[in-house]
Amino acid sequence: MIRDLFSHRSILASVIFIFIQSCIQLLSAETPVFFEPPQLHILRSAYPDIIFRTSYDFEADDWKIEISGITMYWADGKMLTAANLNNKDSFWPVLYKYTKEIPDPAVFTPEHIQEIRSFTAAENRREQEGTSPDFFNAVYDSATRRSVEQHIMQIQFLGKKTNVHERIVEPLHCVEKRILTLAQTDADIQQFIDTLARVDSYNWREIGDRSSRSFHSYGIAVDILPEGWNRKNIYWAWRRDIDPHNWMLLPLDRRWMPPEQVIDAFEKEGFVWGGKWIVWDNMHFEYHPELIDYNHIR
Ligand SMILES: [Zn+2]
Repeated sequence: MIRDLFSHRSILASVIFIFIQSCIQLLSAETPVFFEPPQLHILRSAYPDIIFRTSYDFEADDWKIEISGITMYWADGKMLTAANLNNKDSFWPVLYKYTKEIPDPAVFTPEHIQEIRSFTAAENRREQEGTSPDFFNAVYDSATRRSVEQHIMQIQFLGKKTNVHERIVEPLHCVEKRILTLAQTDADIQQFIDTLARVDSYNWREIGDRSSRSFHSYGIAVDILPEGWNRKNIYWAWRRDIDPHNWMLLPLDRRWMPPEQVIDAFEKEGFVWGGKWIVWDNMHFEYHPELIDYNHIR
């Protein structure tokens, strides 16, 4: 009886030993191929109806991801097709830092200010491709003007007509509902609605001084333009034309901003606000539920 128990224990110990050894082998540095990049989970949950097929490409030594028939590589989170891999350094990762608070120039360090100056210098901006178009082209079928325009619809947002991608119709509708509910008890929000001049969304165009495309050309960016800006500033590059060296130091209270609860309503439905970018664009909202989740904003 005791001998039986002893032999069962040794078998169990051997099994556990072999199991642990196998786990160590799987986790060793030479075999990074068993686990997908963890950030892919954020993208899958932000776009639940999109199918991500992943496999490890040993030749490229990277994860290969197929989305809606388009094959791309993980490429350190930049998500690039083979054609764009040659130019990998000029692209930004799909997931980036977006904060709940607006970056305040009152606390910028001299090093940070210098970084902003060099990041926005004309020659540097020409070389930056920005966010890779490949992932978003797969999600929005937007590789060509012709393909994306099959998905563009006219809607009304806060009483203004605008054209957007069909995928953001529902989230925008939810933003509108939140804003209208707030306006019932908040005079500032009602005033914001009453003084809206235009809502501009889909527009097939490139970003002014860069080769990359604006998210307006995917139909997922929305500009909220107020009537008159009370002599405030609304867009970094217009301010730079007036004050080329110190535009980034313009205090927050001299920038036009939508009411805080309006920004909050957009964020809750998966939109980021351009007023929180270093190159601030205070009229601009962009649908990126993956950034809202990645930065724990909701
Ligand atoms: Zn815009």
